[in-house]
Amino acid sequence: MESFTEHYASMTQAIQKHLPGVDIARIERAVEYAAQKHKDQKRKDGSPYIIHPLAVAEIVAEMGLDLEAILGALLHDCIEDTDASFDEIARLFGSTTAELVEGVTKLTRANFSSTEQAQMENLRKMFMAMSKDIRVVLIKIADRLHNMRTMQYQTPAKQVSKCRETMDIYAPLAHRLGMQKIKWELEDIALRYLEPESYEDIMSYLNAHKEHDEAFMQSIQERISQRLSGMGISNTSYGRIKHVYSIYRKMREQDKTLDELYDIYAFRVIVDTIPDCYNVLGHIHDLFNLVPGRFKDYISTPKPNMYQSLHTTVIGSQGIPFEVQIRTWQMHETAEYGIAAHWKYKQGVGSGNEKDFEWVRRLLESQQDTDAEDYLKSLKIDMFDDEVFVFTPKGKIVSLPAGSTPIDFAYAIHSGVGNAMTGAKINNRICNIDTPLTNGDIVEVITSKAAKGPSRDWLSICKSNQARTKIKQWFKKEKREENVTYGRASFEAEMRRVGLPLSITIDPEVSPQLLKKLAFDSWENMYAAIGYGGLTAVKAVGRIRDDINRAVKAQDKAQQTNPLRTAPEDAAKKNRHAVNGVIVEDIDSCMIKFAKCCTPVPGDEITGFITKGFGVSIHRTDCPNAAHRHEPVQAARWVPVRWANVDDQPFDTTLELDCITRDGLLLDVAMVMTTNRIRVKELYGKDMPGGHSLFTVRFEVRNVAELDAIRNKLLNIRDVIGSKRGQN
Ligand code: MN
Repeated sequence: MESFTEHYASMTQAIQKHLPGVDIARIERAVEYAAQKHKDQKRKDGSPYIIHPLAVAEIVAEMGLDLEAILGALLHDCIEDTDASFDEIARLFGSTTAELVEGVTKLTRANFSSTEQAQMENLRKMFMAMSKDIRVVLIKIADRLHNMRTMQYQTPAKQVSKCRETMDIYAPLAHRLGMQKIKWELEDIALRYLEPESYEDIMSYLNAHKEHDEAFMQSIQERISQRLSGMGISNTSYGRIKHVYSIYRKMREQDKTLDELYDIYAFRVIVDTIPDCYNVLGHIHDLFNLVPGRFKDYISTPKPNMYQSLHTTVIGSQGIPFEVQIRTWQMHETAEYGIAAHWKYKQGVGSGNEKDFEWVRRLLESQQDTDAEDYLKSLKIDMFDDEVFVFTPKGKIVSLPAGSTPIDFAYAIHSGVGNAMTGAKINNRICNIDTPLTNGDIVEVITSKAAKGPSRDWLSICKSNQARTKIKQWFKKEKREENVTYGRASFEAEMRRVGLPLSITIDPEVSPQLLKKLAFDSWENMYAAIGYGGLTAVKAVGRIRDDINRAVKAQDKAQQTNPLRTAPEDAAKKNRHAVNGVIVEDIDSCMIKFAKCCTPVPGDEITGFITKGFGVSIHRTDCPNAAHRHEPVQAARWVPVRWANVDDQPFDTTLELDCITRDGLLLDVAMVMTTNRIRVKELYGKDMPGGHSLFTVRFEVRNVAELDAIRNKLLNIRDVIGSKRGQN
């Protein structure tokens, strides 16, 4: 059990050390408030909950953050774990503090663990993106550090998951933010729970060699400080063993035992000025033998996380190599506290909040590890302005292009969700489906089985290609029938053009192989693809041409009496479905309409044209509009059709009569029609140049013979001098 008094005292001490002159009364009020709110809660070890916020505030103070951050740290669990509200905290402690607390709450609620490795990158990005204020990240890191320090009270399962999360998220973030000291501590604690045996091995080795190590480090340290003092350079120098996780990593990477491991010792020389750093470097190289290729000047070229130091590796008199890091005090602060140290120096120069964050953003953007720590490359955080990170109601993160809407979100989840979407909720509130999403939003899609599917405007609303593609796909699919009809006709026309038998597509022995070659699971799907332009008929036929020829040859040889090519009578026997008295060869049940230009009737030679959207339009083969049907550009859309045996069905047809204009002619035409019991649907005349009239008559006949009979009777009328089928 840890005591409130102890923690309170050490926190106050840290605050007084790092933030002298701060308004202690405000801190006391926050402590009281938090203690009151958490009064019924206990930590896992049984101590009062308030211990935790106190410890977090102490870490935040040590980082050198400001008063608001300390208040934020003290109150960081209030919104999440107690009945405290944002408004109440804002009223009592100011809106900045309330926003910090809310920011930490958001991160606490986000589930950063138990995700696949592939999501790690997104997690880290979102972590940053969600934290509009860098202090939120720093408080959250402090929170995690204290939780790691008290990890022994957690269940083994929790220990592993929390430590994994620490390794994946928090330690890399601490590194990115240049907070070396915290990063090391997080890594060492995590290793202890994740790889307990390795951790113990290293620890017991280090303990066993402790005396030797200390003696060695002391002798080196003495040589260094003696030399430097002798030269009048004021300095602080000390040796240390590198942290456990970095030793573990080196063993792993270099596949070495501890005994074989190169440099586990690091010495630090801290001086007042930059020229002193270079002076010290000269003295170190004079005192010890240099290991070539290990010198690095991070003073003239700082690391992207602002780290500055001179690094060199040398070998002491006992033949043991060690690293020396030379830096000024300011560089030292930055190395230990990173971004937080930067914060500290900024204080009093105006809050400059926005700019600070820009700085972090840039830092994170340009971050690249150029040193040997290659493994860190995988931890690169990019802050993309063009991405937004949101949650599913179950806490899964979805990354979308900036400006994305619930429509994009729905399609990112599943196309089925998008297609069934009728509305959306953002953070549990109903919203328009074109509302732009912001980082950390919890998005819920409302779906209905009765949904009519996406609307065309969604294509212009959505921001992600994924959504756009899926919406287009839906439209493609909805128009599938039309696509299949059209695609099939194109394919078959192309087959005929190159002289391949159509029947091969239904040959059970050859068909599967052809489909495999085409990479489709059914002919219908392939026709649909041709129909919507995903594939051209020429390409499709080209792909299977050789296979078909081979198959045809093989079959011809095997059964010469029964050639594969479908004979015309076979086709006729096929039980085709007639629509409106017409059979379209090879296509079952498609829409049929009769072309107005030539109004064919049974007995006429006909051909079919596949229209865009209205099925097959039937023309007479002598119709001017069908004249170009054999030309390659059109060939694919013309299909063979024939009349079905429907004798008593009437067909509409039209005749145009060329007449010499006279009174009563219209009546004469009508009389002929009536006396022959022809059902007239339309009859009208108009004046033509040169004293002519043109009469158009639309009527019903059963076949071309009946049509010819009535046509002759009409031509017998005085002043009717010519007739023409159809109308133009
Ligand atoms: Mn906490």
